[in-house]
Amino acid sequence: MAKIQAVRPLDPPAVSPRTLVIAAAVVAGLLLLAYLVAFDQGAVSRSGMFLHELMHDGRHLLGVPCH
Ligand SMILES: [Zn+2]
Repeated sequence: MAKIQAVRPLDPPAVSPRTLVIAAAVVAGLLLLAYLVAFDQGAVSRSGMFLHELMHDGRHLLGVPCH
């Protein structure tokens, strides 16, 4: 007769909540940076067109529609 064994549940992932908070903050910061580099026209940065002009070559390098 075959022996039946109970299946052990999988262990939870070994990622601490602190690591998740740090990772979420880094992702949010990078998304904000990507927005400021690629899409901001002065509405968020409140710098007029300064940030747009500063990142202008980078926008074209990345292929982001600009003008
Ligand atoms: Zn341009």
